[in-house]
Amino acid sequence: MTEGLKKIKIEVKNKKQNQMRKAEVVIIGGSAAGMVAALTGKSTWPEKSFILVKKQKEMMVPCGIPYIFGTLENSQQNIMPVDHMLEKAGIQSVVSTVTSINKKEKTIQLADGENISYDKLVIATGSTPVKPRWLNNADVENVFVIPKDKPYLDSMIDKLSRCRKVAVIGAGFIGVEFSDELNKRGLEVTLVEKLPNILSMAFDVELASRIDSILRDRGVKIVTNNGIRSIIGEKIVRGILLENGDTIDSDAVILSMGYVPNTDLARDSGIFIDEGGFIAVDEYMRTHEPDIFAVGDCAQKRDFVTRKRVPTMLASTACAEARVAGINLFNINVVKTFSGTIGIYSTAIGNTGFGTAGLTESRAIEEGIAIISGAFEGVDRHPGNLPDAHKQLVKLIAAKYSGVIIGGEVIGGLSAGELTNVIGLIIENRMTVNSLLTSQIGTHPCLTASPAGYPLIKAAEIIAAKMRQ
Ligand SMILES: Cc1cc2nc3c(=O)[nH]c(=O)nc-3n(C[C@H](O)[C@H](O)[C@H](O)COP(=O)(O)OP(=O)(O)OC[C@H]3O[C@@H](n4cnc5c(N)ncnc54)[C@H](O)[C@@H]3O)c2cc1C
Repeated sequence: MTEGLKKIKIEVKNKKQNQMRKAEVVIIGGSAAGMVAALTGKSTWPEKSFILVKKQKEMMVPCGIPYIFGTLENSQQNIMPVDHMLEKAGIQSVVSTVTSINKKEKTIQLADGENISYDKLVIATGSTPVKPRWLNNADVENVFVIPKDKPYLDSMIDKLSRCRKVAVIGAGFIGVEFSDELNKRGLEVTLVEKLPNILSMAFDVELASRIDSILRDRGVKIVTNNGIRSIIGEKIVRGILLENGDTIDSDAVILSMGYVPNTDLARDSGIFIDEGGFIAVDEYMRTHEPDIFAVGDCAQKRDFVTRKRVPTMLASTACAEARVAGINLFNINVVKTFSGTIGIYSTAIGNTGFGTAGLTESRAIEEGIAIISGAFEGVDRHPGNLPDAHKQLVKLIAAKYSGVIIGGEVIGGLSAGELTNVIGLIIENRMTVNSLLTSQIGTHPCLTASPAGYPLIKAAEIIAAKMRQ
């Protein structure tokens, strides 16, 4: 850069620093949490002015990312129409990075030096993928993490198109979805998991092993009970070394080993961060600082049942938290607080859907909760000879003495996702086995299981029978 150009840049920055835009509400981050906080806030407080600052112009649908590697043609098909929705709602959007928050002056500063003042601030800076420091050679070519960043993902698609074998490390939902999608693209995929089963944080072993078989039948190789020790290759990936000394040849490695909250901005601005690295919040999503809220992956989480802090990061939770913050920005408008993370996940492999909500049986036992579980397998159409019929297995977990439902798991057709949401509502509303037994369930031959053999109710019946013993 010439001296002249440098001087002009500094002058522009200084000029911007003296400028001050104003908004009554400022939101930092334009993904799930930021966007929903802005839209809910504006519809609750339409007379207030809103500005949302986001780092990227084009935002990916985060949960759609695995599908740009197989089912979708390209990443452009996975763009969230954030700007359109904000504009329609009368919210100004600014593409920039927030570099600091001045809590005393109630201003934020952008990368170009511009300041924006606020009455209420919502931090929704999300999370970033983990690349463990202990992992040798993690910086060689063709080692990938999965950020929600379009240019990075586009380059990853391009590099993977020249690979034949890929190792995916970590068999949570994201690792499983990536393995299946890359397998669809024709890559030879090995999914590596340190724990004894895939998806073992989400499903009890009898369900996890069914998912394992489905994935293997589709051609994905699965290694469990064996973590990665290091990456082989000095400049570019040649393979991986496992904890038991085995090696696996691969041209690329995808690390799907979790996410950490992105809280540097909040920490550097003196906002209280908890021991797990999340921004501490109360049940209205308020931080320790007056007029500053935090929502989404960057905000502290508590398990709905155990009340323990948990690192669960989900778009569904992020959006629920964002709605609570948006509604209550200027006062406790609706006495609605965020009552804890239930952890509702679902996914699909081919035409089989899986979902889980609340605690698994094994987790409940680990937590010392006395439970009774019941599982029932039926068919999601009646009669089962109708087109698209699929077996549907529902497992429910209830607290032994109260009968309150605290968890549920589903394997079925593609309706499994919505059925899992129903279980999530059952947990959130603290319904008991008895109230489920007397619930009215709408059914139709082409859409649902039979009313006489509805797996959700039958699973509750099994628990009720065990409770009477
Ligand atoms: C591959 C994948 C699949 C997933 N699938 C599912 C799923 O099926 N279901 C589900 O519920 N969840 C899923 N998740 C989790 C879900 O994506 C996250 O929980 C969700 O994105 C959280 O939203 P957020 O807005 O809190 O954070 P993020 O999505 O991380 O967004 C934060 C945004 O803030 C921006 N930002 C950060 N710092 C600044 C700054 N200083 N200035 C301006 N902008 C800033 C970031 O650039 C980013 O755009 C998935 C995640 C991944 C990665």
